[in-house]
Amino acid sequence: MTARFSFDIHATDGRARTGTITMKRGEIRTPAFMPVGTAATVKAMKPGDVRASGADIILGNTYHLMLRPGAERVNRLGGLHGFMGWDRPILTDSGGYQVMSLAELTKRSEDGVAFKSHLDGTRHLLSPERSIEIQRLLGSNIVMAFDELVPTTSTREVQASAMERSMRWAKRSRDAFDAGGQHAEDNAIFGIQQGALDEGFRKSSADALIDIGFDGYAIGGLAVGEGQEAMFGCLDFAPGQLPVEKPRYLMGVGKPTDIVGAVERGVDMFDCVLPTRSGRTGQAFTRQGPINIRNARFAEDQGPLDPACGCPVCTTWSRAYLHHLVRAGEILGAMLMTEHNIWFYQQMMADLRAAIAEGRLTAFADDFRARYAAGQ
Ligand SMILES: [Zn+2]
Repeated sequence: MTARFSFDIHATDGRARTGTITMKRGEIRTPAFMPVGTAATVKAMKPGDVRASGADIILGNTYHLMLRPGAERVNRLGGLHGFMGWDRPILTDSGGYQVMSLAELTKRSEDGVAFKSHLDGTRHLLSPERSIEIQRLLGSNIVMAFDELVPTTSTREVQASAMERSMRWAKRSRDAFDAGGQHAEDNAIFGIQQGALDEGFRKSSADALIDIGFDGYAIGGLAVGEGQEAMFGCLDFAPGQLPVEKPRYLMGVGKPTDIVGAVERGVDMFDCVLPTRSGRTGQAFTRQGPINIRNARFAEDQGPLDPACGCPVCTTWSRAYLHHLVRAGEILGAMLMTEHNIWFYQQMMADLRAAIAEGRLTAFADDFRARYAAGQ
């Protein structure tokens, strides 16, 4: 019988690791990139095509789904997996980040966050207990603890008090998770380390989470505008404060070079809207850096988006055709650009896993960065 949740590290190279998370719904090869399926869809892609790109797991957003179509409705319809037609693992965020960035009239208290929906103005409360309940109703396989976020530019006092509240909420999230509920046999819970860019705050947060005990640990509160150098500075110490034998998930990251650098610093899991959102605006990721397919220089370019890419888009259509579709506002343009970008990210993760397994990560990463920068 498959364990509820296990993480096996197969090889390490420096601080980087490659391994497998095993869950009832399938294996997740790490380092892993999770395409974002905000509203029960990875925008412009069918689930079978997401899987064909090499994705083992996708992410769903609690905040969006609780407002539309509603967690209870998704539950009555058989849960997120059946509803959207994705049968492999799903990680859901706690809603904490979105409620604080998207909702209107938010009011924070020790209980949780009261807010008005950005869609229709209805009033809701998101608390640790309600967040866990919603994630269970959705049928999430990896449930995230509910936390409080403040900008990295906040004062030290504000950062410290938000981190401490997040740790009290982490305990309430864990207790709510342990109280059981639907799908309890096939889901896991991750805690989220906070503490902005401060090493001491990060250590206090890590110790509090380890004391509570989680299946995996996320690094939260980064990639919010602090810049790559500051983020890497934090990642030089933050992953090492978390248990070596558990997966580490860097939330909301990021650009290809962010991911390569974070993998070198010991991160195992990522999610980001960048490949899907960029695909819808005409930006393609390539091994020679990002390109904007709307640019006139691609109007008669008969080559593929990325000559080194083996995706269904690059092996079938030219830059000239994609340029035309995107310029004409054709739906297929957004679909094909998104599909290529998701493949680019998944091929990059596969390359990182192979490089770690073969002990050549530094050479791979340096080569990746040099090619990527050369085309920019
Ligand atoms: Zn491609």
